[in-house]
Amino acid sequence: MKISKAKFLKLLQVGDKLTLTHCLLGACNSPREVAEVKSYGYVMLTPEGKHSHLRLDTGDVVDYQEATGVITIIKGDKIAARYKTVDAISCNQCAMLSINGLACHETGCPNMGARWDHETSNWIRQVKCDICGYDVDYFSVCCMGNDGE
Ligand SMILES: [Zn+2]
Ligand SMILES: [Zn+2]
Repeated sequence: MKISKAKFLKLLQVGDKLTLTHCLLGACNSPREVAEVKSYGYVMLTPEGKHSHLRLDTGDVVDYQEATGVITIIKGDKIAARYKTVDAISCNQCAMLSINGLACHETGCPNMGARWDHETSNWIRQVKCDICGYDVDYFSVCCMGNDGE
C-alpha cells in the first residue's frame, strides 16, 4: 500500500530494528537501527556503527505492507531500498509478558514452548524428534521422514 511521507515518518521510532533486504546494488541482508527521525526521513545505524541515511526526495514512493512489515522505497521506476521491520512478538492466546526482553506466556497458554517464527509471525508448536532428540517444528520432517509425532 502506498503511504504518504507524513505516515512514513511515523512508522519508525528511535531504537527500532529493521533489516535492509534490498538496495540499489541488489539483494542484501544488513541490519539497521533507527538512530534519529528527521524531517526528510531517518538516520540509521549500521552494525559497523556507521550512519545510513534514509532520505525521501520529492517524487519518491513509499510502499508499506502492514502484514509483513516490509517497507519499499521507490525512486523513479527503481527500488531504491527495501526494509523489513522486525516484528514484535505477541501471543494471540494469552496476555504474554516480556520479562527482560524474553517472551513469557501465561501458565497454560497453548503456545508455551512453541517457537516464534519471524517469517510468518506465528507460533510453531515444537515436538521432540524421537530419533535425534531435538525439538523440531510440528509437521516438519526430521530424521528419516519422522514427522515428530
Ligand atoms: Zn501465550
Ligand atoms: Zn530428528
